[in-house]
Amino acid sequence: MADSPSVRDLFARPLRDLRVSVTDRCNFRCRYCMPREVFGPGFEFMRTVDLLTIDEIVEVVEAAARLGVQKVRLTGGEPLLRRDITLLVGRLRRIGSLDLAMTTNGVGLTRHAAALAEAGLSRLTVSLDSLDDERFRLMSDTRAGVADVLDGIAAAERAGFTSLKINAVIRADHPDSDILDLADYFRGTGHVLRFIEYMDVGSTNGWRADQVKNADHIAGLIGRHHPLRSLEPNYPGEVARRYQYRDGAGEIGIISSVSKPFCTDCTRARLAADGKLYTCLFATEGTDLRALLRGTRAPGDLERALGGRWRRRDDEYSQTRQDETLPTSSRRIEMSYIGG
Ligand code: SAM
Ligand code: SF4
Ligand code: SF4
Repeated sequence: MADSPSVRDLFARPLRDLRVSVTDRCNFRCRYCMPREVFGPGFEFMRTVDLLTIDEIVEVVEAAARLGVQKVRLTGGEPLLRRDITLLVGRLRRIGSLDLAMTTNGVGLTRHAAALAEAGLSRLTVSLDSLDDERFRLMSDTRAGVADVLDGIAAAERAGFTSLKINAVIRADHPDSDILDLADYFRGTGHVLRFIEYMDVGSTNGWRADQVKNADHIAGLIGRHHPLRSLEPNYPGEVARRYQYRDGAGEIGIISSVSKPFCTDCTRARLAADGKLYTCLFATEGTDLRALLRGTRAPGDLERALGGRWRRRDDEYSQTRQDETLPTSSRRIEMSYIGG
């Protein structure tokens, strides 16, 4: 896609990607994201009236596209829980030549994959942490099983999504044999398996540095079984380090947000389901675009608010994470709210 003029932040990083969280609800309770002790029956999720409507989301994305955004990823919570999700995809599809992607836990795909393809979704990422039912349930804390996610992946393939990304969050207690099983399963399928280091997002998952299995370990482990060669990023700001199997069986990615942060190339903004705009996954404060959308405003106000916020951006959390002299924020925003 041709580079469009883009607003730049204080470190000259352009605004290229927008992640849109369409709901803070989820049918899983992944231990690292929405632990049941916190997100239990008494938890107050956003009220429907507080969620941005489709028209409002489209308006924000249009303004973002004028400021240089080329990629939009729908996420959550679980995006397939939002009833009007296919309609939203169809409306966003009409905005220029956007690369339009979605991240999902996959179980809703048997129902929705064909309609999403029809509506014009460009790409799908499916999260699957393990092929072992016991470990999968341990991590996702759901009644769904591995077979439900694999059925969803099969439905996506039938709907014409040929190259999926498969996201697997890896914690230190994840057995190496499990990581290799995932690699073996997806080799040769055309799908790109991406291992994600366990991150300290939010404040409910009780993250500790010693729970991270780092990217070098994962790359070394897989490389010993299936020799790998490093690949160049597809584009500046790509979050995953890319590797190709030397025998031609495809590609994997490793997202090393903790051990090798990539803030210098970070071009992502996030829109929470209630219309707050965040310029970093680890932000504590958002800019309320919903108040603007629902109030009296002049033409161009939304674009000015978005562009103005991006121009003031100086986020580089992951790069300063190790610096213990910096103050740590007490209450970070949860991943299910801000959009993963
Ligand atoms: N529910 C959808 C899903 O799970 O694919 C979309 C939202 S989820 C928040 C987006 C991605 O964030 C998933 O791939 C998930 O595994 C990842 N994620 C959530 N919490 C994480 C954490 N603490 N560290 C690393 N990745 C995390
Ligand atoms: Fe739900 Fe995705 Fe978070 Fe798991 S990672 S609890 S599927 S939002
Ligand atoms: Fe981007 Fe913030 Fe993550 Fe750094 S920590 S890569 S600035 S989202």
